[in-house]
This record gives sequence, structure tokens and C-alpha cells, in this order.
Amino acid sequence: MDAAHMGADLEKVLITEEEIHARLDELATEIWAEYEGKDLLLVGVLKGAVMVMADLSRALPGTAPVDWMAVSSYGSGTKSSGVVRILKDLDTDITGKHVLIVEDIVDSGLTLSWIKANLESRSPASVEICTLLRKPEAAKVEIDVKWVGFDIANEFVVGYGLDYAENYRNLREVGTLAPHVYA
Ligand code: 5GP
Repeated sequence: MDAAHMGADLEKVLITEEEIHARLDELATEIWAEYEGKDLLLVGVLKGAVMVMADLSRALPGTAPVDWMAVSSYGSGTKSSGVVRILKDLDTDITGKHVLIVEDIVDSGLTLSWIKANLESRSPASVEICTLLRKPEAAKVEIDVKWVGFDIANEFVVGYGLDYAENYRNLREVGTLAPHVYA
């Protein structure tokens, strides 16, 4: 679906599909310059990173394996606590590999810093992060994110993999929801 199918549920489009694709193409070029010839593994975090992974991985000018993790973050309501449980672990042994975590959004950073530390404990050659979106004002922990698509304001966004109550992941754009949706 695109913004036109959202009707009154959409407040505003923050980032268009064209802007997302153009930025992911740029990031793919930078990422390939870093990893070409290295034993790279792309790691996506389900479910939000599915769209970013699909487009970023296809924008790379060479082959790279992909693996997935699913985690649940214990927290109150919509706020993450940084206490994480692995629901689905990697199928791959990452010993000696260059791991690139591909994420949809870094909000407080708590979930991602836990995942990064967890992967670093498995003796990879390196662990870096690429995220489509980051909310600098929401950061609770300092986390080194090497590639960022867009820095956005501290507001709740949906689309391009990001959901509200499992809806709107299939929206092509990134946008905000009208207040009545939360009511
Ligand atoms: P963090 O641990 O960085 O606070 O939160 C990470 C997770 O919270 C993200 O992977 C994402 O699933 C969810 N999240 C954070 N901000 C947003 C947002 O603006 N919209 C949506 N749909 N999910 C978000």
C-alpha cells in the first residue's frame, strides 16, 4: 500500500519510497567499499528490518549471505527496557565473519546495543550496524551506528517494515499516524 491508501489514518509522509531507495543505494555503495572481498554476513532483526534488508541487500553490487534474528524486548508498553530475549537465533556460526546488522530504526538504542554485545561475544571478525532510521533525541545508550539512512525527530513512525499493532508494515513510505488511530 502507499500513502494514498491510508486515507485519514495517515498524518504525514516523512520519507517517500524514492527517497528511501536513493539513500539505500548510496549506503550500499559505501558498505560494499568497506566489505568487498571480506567474509560478510548481513544480519536482519525480524520483523521490522525485512524491507530494509530486501532493498539494501539487492543494491549491493555483489553477493552476501543473509541471516535473521528475532528478539523480544521486555518493557512497559511501547518503551523498550533493554532486557532482551532471543526468540529466533542465527542459523550461522559467525566466528571470524564480518557481521553487518541491518536495522529499521534505532530509538533508545537499548535493544540494538544488547544484540551487538551478544553477537560480539561469538568471536566474529567485526560487528557493525546499518539502520534506515535513527532518532537521536531518543538515545538512552551510546551506540556506534556506522551507517544511518535518515535521522528523524522523536515521534512514532510506521511503514517500510515498521508497524503499529502489526499494521502498516506494508506501507511503501515512512510516515506518522493520525491521533485517532491510537484512540
Ligand atoms: P529501542 O531498543 O532502540 O528503543 O527500540 C527498538 C525497537 O523499537 C525497534 O526495532 C522497533 O521495533 C521499535 N520502535 C522504535 N521506535 C519505533 C517507531 O517510531 N515506530 C515503530 N513502528 N517501531 C519503533
